[in-house]
Amino acid sequence: MSSSTRKEAPALIAPRFPILNLDERRLAPALGFIFDARWLLPGESIISILWKFARANGLPAHALVRLMGVDVDPYEGVEPIRAALDLKHLRRMLLLPGKVLRASLLDAGQRGRHHAVFRYCRQCTLLGHHSVTYQMFSENRCPAHRQKLETKCQHCGQETPYIINARLVGSPYRCARCGALYATRSPPAFATKPAMRKEHRIAISRHFHNRMAGSFHLGIDDCDL
Ligand SMILES: [Zn+2]
Ligand SMILES: [Zn+2]
Repeated sequence: MSSSTRKEAPALIAPRFPILNLDERRLAPALGFIFDARWLLPGESIISILWKFARANGLPAHALVRLMGVDVDPYEGVEPIRAALDLKHLRRMLLLPGKVLRASLLDAGQRGRHHAVFRYCRQCTLLGHHSVTYQMFSENRCPAHRQKLETKCQHCGQETPYIINARLVGSPYRCARCGALYATRSPPAFATKPAMRKEHRIAISRHFHNRMAGSFHLGIDDCDL
């Protein structure tokens, strides 16, 4: 029998990162993950956070998706809404403040009011940013670059479901279908200085906080307006 169909097996593969001694069910701070909250802007989406986390720690996407919960199948994934995830568990795993994680996820009350496919600003992906607000129906342009938010890949014309699964998490800043970058090149590696211009960072932060003050209530999962 040929083994040419051997793809990424979801389980029982030897850890490829011996330094981390990867126990996918229980990744702990003791293992020495690195993540710096300064890499994030207010309202940075969970997908953007996971892209940065994977990149900084050399973690495979399926292992990272498994951190979303013990019952989560990494290939099927889980909806990026607060009610679908155990935030306490996520906080422990990703070592990020609860408010950063809550802000990165959509409200259950917004179900049906957010895009089911990944939606992006090309300039932002170039700089390694994706905001949770880009997934909302009410948003049409990036508050910093004023560019129209897009869903289709420029290369293959396909859209990618906005689900935390191995496919999307494993395709940072690129189309999960064909692998083409959404921007002209990959975002710069993590530096001490933010890649995005100050006025653009301010515009994104201000816009997110305005949204929070409006219909986007943090910490209230089933808000009715
Ligand atoms: Zn932008
Ligand atoms: Zn594509």
